Amino acid sequence: MPRRGMGRVGVALLLAIAVDAMATRRAEAAGDEARRAVEVRGIYGGVPREILDRGRSPSDYGINAVWIGSGGLNRDAVAELKRQGAKVFAEFNTMHEASYLKDHPDAAPVGADGKPCPPPDGWQGVCPTHPGYRAARMAEFRRVLRDFDVDGIWLDYHHAHASWEQAEPALPDTCFCARCLARFAREAGVDLADRPAPEAARLLLGPLKARWVGWRCGVFTDWVREFRAIRDEVRPGALLGTFHCPWSEDDRGGALRAKLAIDLKAQAEYVDVFSPMPYHARFGHAADPDWIGRQVTWLGRHLGVRGVPGERIRIWPIVQLSDWGEPVPAGQVPDVIARGARPPATGLTAFAWGPLSKDWDKVERMGRAYRSLRP
Ligand SMILES: [Zn+2]
Repeated sequence: MPRRGMGRVGVALLLAIAVDAMATRRAEAAGDEARRAVEVRGIYGGVPREILDRGRSPSDYGINAVWIGSGGLNRDAVAELKRQGAKVFAEFNTMHEASYLKDHPDAAPVGADGKPCPPPDGWQGVCPTHPGYRAARMAEFRRVLRDFDVDGIWLDYHHAHASWEQAEPALPDTCFCARCLARFAREAGVDLADRPAPEAARLLLGPLKARWVGWRCGVFTDWVREFRAIRDEVRPGALLGTFHCPWSEDDRGGALRAKLAIDLKAQAEYVDVFSPMPYHARFGHAADPDWIGRQVTWLGRHLGVRGVPGERIRIWPIVQLSDWGEPVPAGQVPDVIARGARPPATGLTAFAWGPLSKDWDKVERMGRAYRSLRP
């Protein structure tokens, strides 16, 4: 095409880009000052009884959302929180229902040596292709959505057998059970010719690694597809969220995909809200709360989410306010909240109410920060 200067479309496009960039800069500047309105300001970990017992309401602390473990839900609590003006979101354990293994030892993840992989740091996962386990979790997911008038449900522990929620994660390679190997061979079109598991594992972690990792990510994404289908059928008004590892795809040698089997872009087809878990103190960044902002910024770029009105996908991080591993000083609370609330985030929640409720100075500081983020 001959170059004939910029046409009207070109000028309009440039203008649109400039206006867009200005809007983003304005939003970022406002976020820096923690004055940007943030639609969801939550707490994770159950009904905040300690607030209600003081004769106050969650909204007095700027809180408008509460996450409750799906096992701890009850109808009265859900109704009470809604009367108080808070949204109620369930947290749902997908791959960490360790009690299932008691009666189903064949659901234990298998390591590269062909033997059941010991739970790293005691963290027990489950083989992602065990049909009985998957059916049981789907049935439970359906029950939670059917029985409780929740505003959303968040997947939790939706990753492979690994203990990653600490400064130095333990990330064994799994699952090389006969079922996973046969399914991989069939679906990826690879002839493993009934090789013993240790031999197959050497291939899958060596020359076939890219296909193996892609297939494993696909298995975990397919769980999300089915959760979404159940949500659409049973409670279509509820949001589908996920609490997930906050690493970028480059962090730790690509472990997000290669070890944990999390493909965020693929899951984005089904998920409404991504809630990365940048627990800065727990994960070795106690003195660098800006790490929270960097991880959330990466996620926004990766998913193409900017934190502007009208986007289908939202990012609401869960930030660490309570002490876990390393303490979070009370004076750091406003800073942690401000960094978690910046674009592309449009909401956030605080980990975790139980220990937080025993440190009222932090609750008051969180309340002040949350109130300043209200529209
Ligand atoms: Zn398996």
